[in-house]
Amino acid sequence: MTETRTYLDYNASAPLRAEARVAMVAAMDTLGNPSSVHTEGRAVRAIVERAREEVAHLVNAKPSEVVFTSGATEANNWVMAGGWDEICVSSIEHDSVLAPARASGARLASLPVSTSGIVDVEAMKSILMRAGERSKRVLASLMMANNETGVIQPVAEVAAEARRLGAVMHVDAVQAPGRISVDFAALSADAMVLSAHKLGGPRGVGALIVRDGVTLTPLIKGGGHERRRRGGTENVTGIAGFGAAAVAVRRETDAASRMSRLRSMLEDCVLRITPTAVIIGREAARVANTSCIALPGKPAETLVIKLDLEGIAVSAGAACFSGKVGPSHVLEAMGLSPEIARAAVRVSLGPETCEGDIAAFLAAWEKVAKPVAIAA
Ligand code: PMP
Repeated sequence: MTETRTYLDYNASAPLRAEARVAMVAAMDTLGNPSSVHTEGRAVRAIVERAREEVAHLVNAKPSEVVFTSGATEANNWVMAGGWDEICVSSIEHDSVLAPARASGARLASLPVSTSGIVDVEAMKSILMRAGERSKRVLASLMMANNETGVIQPVAEVAAEARRLGAVMHVDAVQAPGRISVDFAALSADAMVLSAHKLGGPRGVGALIVRDGVTLTPLIKGGGHERRRRGGTENVTGIAGFGAAAVAVRRETDAASRMSRLRSMLEDCVLRITPTAVIIGREAARVANTSCIALPGKPAETLVIKLDLEGIAVSAGAACFSGKVGPSHVLEAMGLSPEIARAAVRVSLGPETCEGDIAAFLAAWEKVAKPVAIAA
């Protein structure tokens, strides 16, 4: 196994930023419960509130709209459990939206996407209209950018329509910050989900941004924390790291253009090395860091293992639980053939990715994926 590692799986989890680690160590060393009124309690409360401001600032929300959670999965579950009569989602949402939506008991519409992986906006609008005529509590949920393909979704258009029709709009923005601009105030959305570890913060902490005036019954009950919206002593360490990561992301204004240049280089070279490769969603607008590459005839799980042995960390573009790889619901929804869907490998870059990482990936790709020339 190669000693040096090249990490190209930022959509799964980004490396912890130095700033986040410093903030977390300081928070860990700060005594007290943020709910206590004494000096110690107030000091630790100040850490939580500073982080709340920093996270709010990242997505142009008000600090009062930020509720810290144990991650995006909890936050998505919370929204889906909101007692909706009808839920309208795209078929390419993350499982943390789809599974609780199915379990919610609401009438569920799952909207198709085009072969480029973009939700059918007109279908979503008409489903929302019909739902609004029938039912009172209607939720629309659309992700900003897909975690497997990077394809950007028409969230603003759907949110404006949802508002016009009186539906509540939820946006899973986990894969967006640092890659495309996220402006909660400008978007007619009511709820938005973020996850710290996709930004270089720690794992196990996220946020639900809930527009002032929108009420959601707490999912986690048992305490007046987070202004009575989520019970439980706050994960102060994680929250401090999240806040510091949010500040770092805002400072990195040129990261998206750097990643975009590196990704183009990567995709052009992949197509040169393996001309039969298919770059999924390439014709659509994508976040700058994600490349979903299928090599027909080469199952993704084999490629991922071979690349790993060459020192490269990437993901199969398919849900992988306990070592079993199933066809990705995202790629299936795009109408890709099972052969391509099973062959999709997701390469995702981060702000620290450099040309050397791309070169290392391409050298490994050449070794494991290039067709073997057969002597005549
Ligand atoms: N939504 C999307 C789009 C994601 O990519 C992920 C993480 N893979 C999640 C939600 C869940 O995030 P977390 O790990 O914070 O639960």
